[in-house]
Amino acid sequence: MAKKYVYFFGEGKADGRADMKNLLGGKGANLAEMTNLGIPVPPGFTITTEVCTLYYKNNRKYPPELKKQVENSLDRVEKIMKKEFGGSDNPLLVSVRSGARSSMPGMMETVLNVGLTTKTIPGLIKKTNNPRFVYDAYRRLLMMYSDVVMEKAAGIEPEDGLGIRHKLEHAMEKVKKEKGYANDIDLSVEDLVKLCDAFKAVIKETLGKAFPDNHYDQLWGAIGAVFQSWMGKRAVSYRRIEKIPEEWGTAVNVQSMVFGNTGDNSATGVAFTRNPATGENVFFGEWLPNAQGEDVVAGIRTPNPVNKAGKTADTKHLSSLEEAMPKLYKQLFAIQRKLENHYRDMQDIEFTIEDGRLWMLQTRVGKRNGQAAIRMAVEMAKSRLITRELAVLRVKPEQLDELLHPSVDPAGEKKAVELAKGLPAGPGGAVGKVVFTADDAEAWAKKGQKVVLVRNETSPEDVHGMHAAEAILTAKGGMTSHAALVARGWGKCCIVGCSALDINLRAKEIRVNGSTVKEGDWITLNGTKGRVYAGKLPLLPADPEHNLRYKELMKWADTMRTLGVRTNADTPNDARTARSFGAEGIGLCRTEHMFFEADRIKSVREMILSEEVDGRRKALAKLLPMQKGDFIGIFREMKGLPVTIRLLDPPLHEFLPHTDDELKELARDMGVSFEALKAKNQSLHEFNPMLGHRGCRLGVTYPEIYEMQVQAIMEAACELTKQRVKVIPEIMIPLVGHVNELAKMRSLTVSIAEETMKKCKVKIAYTVGTMIELPRACVTSAQIATQADFYSFGTNDLTQTVYGLSRDDAGRFLPFYVENGILKEDPFISIDTEGVGAFMRLAVEHGRKVKKGLKMGICGEHGGEPKSVEFCHSIGLDYVSCSPYRVPIARFAAAQAALKGKGGKK
Ligand code: ADP
Ligand code: MG
Ligand code: MG
Repeated sequence: MAKKYVYFFGEGKADGRADMKNLLGGKGANLAEMTNLGIPVPPGFTITTEVCTLYYKNNRKYPPELKKQVENSLDRVEKIMKKEFGGSDNPLLVSVRSGARSSMPGMMETVLNVGLTTKTIPGLIKKTNNPRFVYDAYRRLLMMYSDVVMEKAAGIEPEDGLGIRHKLEHAMEKVKKEKGYANDIDLSVEDLVKLCDAFKAVIKETLGKAFPDNHYDQLWGAIGAVFQSWMGKRAVSYRRIEKIPEEWGTAVNVQSMVFGNTGDNSATGVAFTRNPATGENVFFGEWLPNAQGEDVVAGIRTPNPVNKAGKTADTKHLSSLEEAMPKLYKQLFAIQRKLENHYRDMQDIEFTIEDGRLWMLQTRVGKRNGQAAIRMAVEMAKSRLITRELAVLRVKPEQLDELLHPSVDPAGEKKAVELAKGLPAGPGGAVGKVVFTADDAEAWAKKGQKVVLVRNETSPEDVHGMHAAEAILTAKGGMTSHAALVARGWGKCCIVGCSALDINLRAKEIRVNGSTVKEGDWITLNGTKGRVYAGKLPLLPADPEHNLRYKELMKWADTMRTLGVRTNADTPNDARTARSFGAEGIGLCRTEHMFFEADRIKSVREMILSEEVDGRRKALAKLLPMQKGDFIGIFREMKGLPVTIRLLDPPLHEFLPHTDDELKELARDMGVSFEALKAKNQSLHEFNPMLGHRGCRLGVTYPEIYEMQVQAIMEAACELTKQRVKVIPEIMIPLVGHVNELAKMRSLTVSIAEETMKKCKVKIAYTVGTMIELPRACVTSAQIATQADFYSFGTNDLTQTVYGLSRDDAGRFLPFYVENGILKEDPFISIDTEGVGAFMRLAVEHGRKVKKGLKMGICGEHGGEPKSVEFCHSIGLDYVSCSPYRVPIARFAAAQAALKGKGGKK
């Protein structure tokens, strides 16, 4: 039997299922599932993603079996609908819809009303007795088809405003203006007939080809266009941002058309089973009478709320579906309940009503912002729709981040100048300078500017700029518009449908309620309330601790994880913040930052520039009480929790004076000549300081530095212990490459620690460990472990040294690598599990062979990045350590890693 490339659905039975997303794409799999659930879905079929892959593999040719399979399925649709594709009496029209595995809003193209030709038009008019509808459908087909199939898929890239779609829209606007119509639906049959002829002429003239008047040409043209669009610019750019692999391919769905534009007894809409902006458990949606397909999403008319509950001050005068078509609303309501219960997740659905009959056209897991994701997960677990484990898995760690994002300070907001109101599509607050194009947004952001992207409406061409902007503001569109959908997915502040904005793209300014805002002016958005203000208002930091659902979810997560979470903190202040976020200790306390403070740097310089040990000791003696004070502050904040303190690490030259004036002053203080000091200063120059005289190499050559630091740590610990504050110091030796380095530093540390404790008459359990950040340390872990009580992976330096990649210079080429797919990801952001990770694995295995249960953690930037956290869990680390604000994300990612259940400490 020939391979199956086409999966049928219709009349209550489908070849596919929801779990066949990889093969059928999300849309196709869910159309099949809905069909099997007995939900009314127009019949159709799905061409698999395999065909897309084969198409690109075989030089853009389809497998030979495809044609027959498509024709057979089309026959079945015709039988069910009792219509004939291309027929002159009762013609069948179809939609050709793309559908990738994971939804890519607006990325891929859909063509509606395929099959309308000069042959089928009269038949459809006779059948429906509704010429207005037929010509409305035809002008839509002309617009979509010429744009998607004849222009975009053909690789034509017209200049801004010269694209075919734009030209046709312009032609339509012209007719509307001449006739004084406000809306598309005001166009009469005669207008539409003329318009369609005009459209065809413009298409021929612009694209040099006539619009195809054969139903099969249209069908295969549209199918081909969906496959072409997979490699289109917009799709490629969206995939890059969302990290969707190219190999996945897209499926194509061909489906019998149902019409929401046959008159006032017809409608179309988009809805969510719960409110996607707040998470509240109420059915929420928008609809338009006498409309088709994209009308609601495209923001052509302001849509009506689907029910009374969804009305706001701005929409209370509009008729809801609940009021206008109560019976159908009830049916829709029951279906959306059924879908949510079946999928056990919030669904984003599309429906169309044709002459009083309801049809479902799509269901998928709805995008939501962090706030809503948390609320839904917790409420669904509490109502036992899902387990607590699933609730934890449902929320993306980055979504927690949104709760940690700022909001507009209400005090400042009261006094602010309100420019306009819009729909609150993405909560949170944002400030930025106004820009009007996606390219500007990207360019300005690259230069470090904060921008707000202001558009009439957004389209998939804008995603790169939307991504770069702090927030998005549109004049048109509803809560389900493209802008709202995309912003919500990213948890970005966003206001849509802000109709008071009169945007003048040419003058680059906005007229709004009597004021003018120009490009580059600051504005502030309150995305939670949908308010736009002039100027730059103060933002308040986020306050997750008052969000009870968040706290509850975090509590669940903490019971599920096995990985500890610590923080990187150098000051008592950071330590306190991190503790309030749930840090279970400090994984990295850097001591060099303390050296930079104004009152200390002189003593540090004195120490470095002294020719003799005595001079160094003298300077160090001045530093000792200061360092001790630092440690007392941090230990006190972290009482009862372990604190890993790293001894001095950076290249000494970082501390050196830069100007002659500084050198002169220092020479005076030290009682040496300026020339001698300058010569010494120059002699400390290094060619490659990152691989130079730093880390434990300092301790080995200048033991008095580490001696002072150990003494300060232990004196601080003793003092607090006497005050009954529990202190758990862990002393960490950096940049060890050879076991002898560590052995020497360990014995230095132990002897000073013992001496200090004896002097203070206190006994404290302390440990001595090392940072693992050189490949040699990983490879010789079996030796190193004999001298270490713990390991902490310094994955920043380890990445530099394993890759031979200087982080400070990588900016020149790494972005290119990532953009061009040479590297999937920047290894400084997410651990390179194959390379750097292999060294880590080796170090863990060999280290624990020598010392069973040897404690190990990570303190590089990666410790707060969810994928890296998962990797750390899988190789059996004991904890991760990250910056204070990442602590909740790390806790959560650790729980998810444990739930996914691979690896973990044995
Ligand atoms: P997207 O992936 O952008 O949501 P869709 O394939 O869902 O694209 O289609 C775009 C619009 O056309 C949607 O509003 C959808 O409901 C509508 N649509 C698609 N197929 C049909 C059909 N067979 N009959 C009526 N409307 C349809
Ligand atoms: Mg679309
Ligand atoms: Mg859709």
